Amino acid sequence: MELQFSEAQTLVRDTARRFAKDVVAPQARAIDREERFPKEIYRQLAGLGLLGVNIPSALGGSEAGVVSYALAMMEMSAACASTSVGMAVTNMCGELISHYGSEALRQKYVPRLTSGEAIAGAFALSEPHCGSDAAALSTTAQQRGDTYVLNGSKQWITSGAHAGVMVVWARTAAEGNRGLSAFVVEGGTPGLHVGRAEDKMGLRGSNTVGLTFDNCVVPAANLLGKEGDGFKLAMIALDGGRIGIAAQACGVARAALEAAVRYAKDRQAFGHPIGDFQAIRWMLADMRTQLEAAELLCLRAASLKEQKKPFTREASMAKLFCSEMSNRVCDRAVQIHGGYGYIDEFPVERYLRDARVQTIYEGTSEIQRLVIAREIIRLAGP
Ligand SMILES: Cc1cc2nc3c(=O)[nH]c(=O)nc-3n(C[C@H](O)[C@H](O)[C@H](O)COP(=O)(O)OP(=O)(O)OC[C@H]3O[C@@H](n4cnc5c(N)ncnc54)[C@H](O)[C@@H]3O)c2cc1C
Repeated sequence: MELQFSEAQTLVRDTARRFAKDVVAPQARAIDREERFPKEIYRQLAGLGLLGVNIPSALGGSEAGVVSYALAMMEMSAACASTSVGMAVTNMCGELISHYGSEALRQKYVPRLTSGEAIAGAFALSEPHCGSDAAALSTTAQQRGDTYVLNGSKQWITSGAHAGVMVVWARTAAEGNRGLSAFVVEGGTPGLHVGRAEDKMGLRGSNTVGLTFDNCVVPAANLLGKEGDGFKLAMIALDGGRIGIAAQACGVARAALEAAVRYAKDRQAFGHPIGDFQAIRWMLADMRTQLEAAELLCLRAASLKEQKKPFTREASMAKLFCSEMSNRVCDRAVQIHGGYGYIDEFPVERYLRDARVQTIYEGTSEIQRLVIAREIIRLAGP
């Protein structure tokens, strides 16, 4: 990409690129096949400042901004999306606590996330009966003295079995989205039970679990913001999180395109490299064009967030376009590989499996379209 980046952005991108290429990429196939949660890699990411890219240095972050974060996510995702999804959620939790936690919460928990002491962060919003409709969640938090007691179940929680620090949403009052609150919960708190890891199509090295809260007691001081702020905080966090998933989609698609180009130059059919055939060339041309358009949408959303300008619509557009682009590009990369695209000797089948969830998590494509349309109509005025 030939855009001009600042010195700090270039440094973060190049650091992430080198580590992704030298350390993460060589392990990516094994991480996938063995469903190996990449604990050691998270410790190393922390050492490189990549678990708190947009977090103040006073809290152990790199303070390098949102564009740097998106660039780092693209690099890590091109190597291993199982690794990058945990990196994304950890950055997201750290930012949320850093912006909306009390000073005591910030000082206690953000450095644990940025330093890797917590291994990873987890974002526990979805429940077995509701994902898109987060306001329907039914986990409860009842205040008892200077504590809250949590009861209920969460589903699909990324890094849930390993995370030392989680942000958990629960209902503190009956009414709809105004009854939700968010809490910081430490992994291993008595009453917090971790379910079995899901057996997934892709992101097989990422840990995805259900969590059960059975009279799980957390200090009242671990409430993020005020009672009733939970829905607003979830939406704010997801707006930013969507930039991370958009960047992940761009990274995976870039890796798939690069693999397809290599293969098209190498594979012979009818006495020619298949890259000589117009059908293959047109696929490559469309893949590259769509990828670059996606990268621009992603970086624009990141830049708006960094400038503290409204970015809800742009983040949703980036998430929608990048995730759907990534699925198309990975599918075409498999097609270009012919039969070899369907076996795990080549990485493109993993890219396609990893890309599939990108149109689902952190808001499905359908939900992104609802958000984009709502914002278009709202901004059009009366
Ligand atoms: C691998 C993985 C990791 C995840 N990690 C996390 C995590 O760390 N934390 C977390 O909280 N959650 C996580 N999730 C959950 C994820 O965010 C949800 O799966 C997602 O939001 C969709 O919710 P759902 O699965 O309940 O689908 P549903 O909400 O039941 O939706 C089912 C279908 O109906 C459509 N639909 C729903 N409502 C509407 C509507 N109003 N208009 C049009 N269509 C609609 C959806 O788009 C979808 O196609 C993860 C999921 C996966 C698969």
